[in-house]
Amino acid sequence: MKQVTYEGLTFEPYISKKEIDARVGELGKEIVRDCAGKKPLFLCVLNGAFAFAGDLFRAAEEIDAEISFIRLRSYEGTCSSGAVKEVLGLHEDIKGRTVIVVEDIVDTGNTMYRLLEDLRAHEPAEIKVATLLFKPDALVRDVKVDYVGFSIPTKFIIGYGLDLNGLARNLNDIYILKED
Ligand code: IMP
Ligand code: MG
Repeated sequence: MKQVTYEGLTFEPYISKKEIDARVGELGKEIVRDCAGKKPLFLCVLNGAFAFAGDLFRAAEEIDAEISFIRLRSYEGTCSSGAVKEVLGLHEDIKGRTVIVVEDIVDTGNTMYRLLEDLRAHEPAEIKVATLLFKPDALVRDVKVDYVGFSIPTKFIIGYGLDLNGLARNLNDIYILKED
């Protein structure tokens, strides 16, 4: 792993694909244990969670499960304020089901908070949250996360689905913004 540069910013290696694979495997086992017989619906939050969701879903191959994809639309003009306007693409009837929301990262928690509010209105039996990355020091919302890949400091990271203005999602490893 070497440093990478996007838009003049330098990022250094932070979490290797090997470490990610091992951790995702563990989370898959936890989900298998918790959700056996429930036929959960994995709900991948696009775009960032596509890589994690694909790996996590397959790490839970021992149980019957479905996967679907949603996308959130934010208010224009807000960048990271997390003002989610609507949830796009929820076509499944989730009433009475176990839903596992799969996110790439929970930062302030604003996005997840709003998403959970919207999902609860559809009366699922239970909602579980799986996030690859969690920034506990940035959290400003009361959001319960059930499955956390890695807790990280409040710094900007890219790779394995996470982007900088659309780029870097195809990096296999996770990189952190280099300071100074
Ligand atoms: P929130 O602050 O928890 O609402 O997170 C909002 C969104 O910001 C996340 O879903 C990510 O798309 C994005 N985000 C937060 N932190 C990072 C980061 O370190 N790298 C890339 N995207 C991030
Ligand atoms: Mg996201």
